[in-house]
Amino acid sequence: MLILCDFDGTITEQDVTNLIWDRYGLPEWREVLLPPYRAGQMAPPELMARWYAPIAASAAELLAFARPQVSLRRGFDELLAACERNGWPFRVVSQGLDWYLKDFLPPRVKFHGLRAELRGTWQVSVPPEVNLKPGQDYKSWVLEGLRREFPQRPAVFIGDGTNDLPIAREAERVFAVAGSTLEKLCAQHGIAATSFADFHQVIEALGAAS
Ligand SMILES: [Mg+2]
Repeated sequence: MLILCDFDGTITEQDVTNLIWDRYGLPEWREVLLPPYRAGQMAPPELMARWYAPIAASAAELLAFARPQVSLRRGFDELLAACERNGWPFRVVSQGLDWYLKDFLPPRVKFHGLRAELRGTWQVSVPPEVNLKPGQDYKSWVLEGLRREFPQRPAVFIGDGTNDLPIAREAERVFAVAGSTLEKLCAQHGIAATSFADFHQVIEALGAAS
């Protein structure tokens, strides 16, 4: 198996970007951004770039603000250990910013995220090696590359959000956080998904050797 896992709202209980935008972003972001985003009219990297662009606070300041409010979902360390024991490659695939993914994740965890550089304010983009086809979703692009790197392995995707739907359509198995937007979207689109509240349930459902 090949395990891909979203970060915000999946590995973490909270969404780091939402916390940052609520405190440092433009006050109207929820009203202006969420309707076109949920309607699929704006690709996630674009909206991340647009709504981080007014923010000038340093990564250190943003992390000092966000860290105390963010907790990792139960069972995450055990999930990593189960993947290692079973020889399953594990990758975090996120449209969050590279510096906060790096800060929250254990150093041995490989992740794919958006590149963010502070040049007066935050400039956010997909990393330079990413060459999306027109309309292609970033997380799906990551999955495509991992399938080449690890052929013949069924892909398991674990997530929670609107931006997880395209990759959920392509994975062989999907886990959705119980009560999440992804859980509802999978039900609406006829995608089989197993709901979970903590990663111990995922480990058990995957039949990981202990
Ligand atoms: Mg998420």
